[in-house]
Amino acid sequence: MKFKLEYIWLDGYEPVPNLRSKTKIVSLEATPALEQLPVWNFDGSSTRQAEGHNSDCLLQPVAVFPDPARKNAMLVMCEVLLPDGTPHPSNSRATIPDDPDTWFGFEQEYFLYKGGAPLGFPEAGFPAPQGEYYTGVGFKNVGDVARQIVDEHIDLCLEAGINLEGINAEVAKGQWEFQIFGRGSKRAADEVWIARYLLLRLCEQYGVDINFHPKPLGTEHDWNGSGMHTNFSTKHMREIGGEEYFEALMAAFAEEREQHIAVYGPDNHMRLTGLHETAAIDEFTYGVADRGASIRIPHSFVADGYRGYLEDRRPNSLGDPYSIAGRIIQTIESVTASSLIAEAIAV
Ligand code: ADP
Ligand code: MN
Ligand code: MN
Ligand code: MN
Repeated sequence: MKFKLEYIWLDGYEPVPNLRSKTKIVSLEATPALEQLPVWNFDGSSTRQAEGHNSDCLLQPVAVFPDPARKNAMLVMCEVLLPDGTPHPSNSRATIPDDPDTWFGFEQEYFLYKGGAPLGFPEAGFPAPQGEYYTGVGFKNVGDVARQIVDEHIDLCLEAGINLEGINAEVAKGQWEFQIFGRGSKRAADEVWIARYLLLRLCEQYGVDINFHPKPLGTEHDWNGSGMHTNFSTKHMREIGGEEYFEALMAAFAEEREQHIAVYGPDNHMRLTGLHETAAIDEFTYGVADRGASIRIPHSFVADGYRGYLEDRRPNSLGDPYSIAGRIIQTIESVTASSLIAEAIAV
């Protein structure tokens, strides 16, 4: 049977990569497994990943999903490799730490945009101020097509086997959120990128674009920005935890504040102002149920003896989930390492 394989990768644009994809038709007996998918190539000089005189880059399939919108088709998430098979410098997936027992929940916020403004904005000026849009219903709050788009996106994600956990209308008009849960940094982040891809592709037919900028309406107006709150838990956090370990973890996060902000998405200073349910970018704070803190501790976490998951509210909607998840694991591992050293010295 002829299969359509959509090879998807991240280009070399900075500070944020774009999704790129192209279709490969292959003859296969049955639905292919990841291992059966061939390495492919593309012209890196057109994606800021190579010079024109030596332009080939390689596409290494790393995850595969059924493509719900096309017949006999698969979505193939790829890493970009140099011709010698080593990771391309733009390949943020290849080098991050991974651990299937570290779980991530990404809350991806975004704006639907049409004609250069959020969907539902009047041609000039602004709609009614924020207040009723969040989780709102009715034409005056969500307009006429947004609901259809987000509903179709749910079905596309579920049929592709993506672990979508929910969606909701957000605080600004035209702003929405979807949540993805995954085990392991690479798996969770692969699914975020594929969910973004499916949303972008779906919206082509509506003449609608997705604006992932963290503060698309600027800082001078009272309109929310977009985040990508990152919820995380390790096996140790879920099963052992404890207040002492939690404090050590937060000390490490405080210590590494700048390294985290560096990968939490560009233009975050516009969004992390301390207003609109955000923390200030140059401080690290945490608090129970505190939506103005860098890290929000769910009530259940304290009630369960400092066990469970935490929510880092700083990553933004433009952030690369590979780099974000990788950075979080790196900081958590530094705590594990230093406590092991302390134990060894004590013995
Ligand atoms: P809120 O909007 O109140 O911050 P959401 O329901 O939008 O909360 O998002 C909560 C996220 O937390 C979900 O993506 C969910 O998958 C994630 N989550 C729940 N439990 C865990 C866990 N143990 N480890 C990591 N993430 C988790
Ligand atoms: Mn949410
Ligand atoms: Mn939200
Ligand atoms: Mn949240």
